[in-house]
Amino acid sequence: MMMPGLWLRLMRGPERRAITSVKSLVSTGLVAREDETALSKVEANFSTRLTPEVLKQIKLATLDDPVYRQYVPHTDELNFRADERADPIGDKINSPVKGIIHRYPDRLLLTPTHTCAVYCRFCFRRENVGKAEASLNKAEMDTAMAYIDAHTEVSEVILSGGDPLILSDRRLAEILHRLAGIAHIQVIRLHTRVPLVEPSRITPALIKLMRIRPAVYMVLHVNHVAELSVPVKKAMARLARAGIPLLSQSVLLKGVNDSAETLEELFRALVANRVKPYYLHHLDKAQGTSHFRVSIARGQAIMRALRGRLSGIAQPTYVIDIPGGHGKVPIGPEYLSVNEIVDPKGRRHQI
Ligand SMILES: *Cc1c(COP(=O)(O)O)cnc(C)c1O
Ligand code: SF4
Repeated sequence: MMMPGLWLRLMRGPERRAITSVKSLVSTGLVAREDETALSKVEANFSTRLTPEVLKQIKLATLDDPVYRQYVPHTDELNFRADERADPIGDKINSPVKGIIHRYPDRLLLTPTHTCAVYCRFCFRRENVGKAEASLNKAEMDTAMAYIDAHTEVSEVILSGGDPLILSDRRLAEILHRLAGIAHIQVIRLHTRVPLVEPSRITPALIKLMRIRPAVYMVLHVNHVAELSVPVKKAMARLARAGIPLLSQSVLLKGVNDSAETLEELFRALVANRVKPYYLHHLDKAQGTSHFRVSIARGQAIMRALRGRLSGIAQPTYVIDIPGGHGKVPIGPEYLSVNEIVDPKGRRHQI
């Protein structure tokens, strides 16, 4: 699928700019020219973006590469299954005003932008991300802030999207400042992939913005240890040193991280870099993602294996977002069954 000559060209002179089209994927040698027409159909449905850092993290231009597989469009994305949805987790029904998703009493999502630094091929918001009209203009932001201000039961605002760290320092500062001015907001959480895919964005100026009164937490989206390059680890260290608590979320993805060994290596590396694994997500049923799907039974078996050999602080909770907007719930594995406990090795004990 890959021509070695072209690949070498890429290796010698890594792109300095982001790749945003199938055409440039072909010219860098990441996609074969004969696949271009088929992939342009994928491109018409879902956005493409790979940063220079991601290009460096890709070691092999094939689907066996865990980073390549996450970002390079594939014709399997044209297979829409009957049980896949445009809005798999019911964001729409929980959105009282544009840019707010309010599903739990004490916390809500604020999505100032639907642009990301990269576009993941399995994204649960893939129908919306990359579309400029989904971003909030000034009047819409005012309405969203007024909603948060009026809902005193909300103590935590999660900035999501899109990726909130693609905003300029000026826009981000304005949002953080307005949230800091709302007395009932105790915690601001940023859900982001930027430290992994554009570590140079984690500047002293950006870090300074986050050292404010509502505690600012960061949840990093990371799926494979290959994403933890030297610049990425340095960016994480800058954040940790500034006292920003770091958590991670990962998505269980076929061909990327669907083995206990791969996840063990990832979670160990995260903890060693001061990041607490928070969630392992079961893949949501977004359209054209079936080639990434792992069964729940397999996910549970992997989690059980991890429980047997990995430190408690390195264990995330395995969760699923119930289709239709019913929320996230842990999905095991179960260890207790009436009067029997199953230990991490799968052996049963009477109690
Ligand atoms: C995931 C999510 C949250 C955060 O849930 P936690 O379990 O607190 O991480 C909040 N609101 C919405 C709408 C979500 O989808
Ligand atoms: S960075 Fe997050 S929101 Fe953006 S495409 Fe990836 S998974 Fe989706």
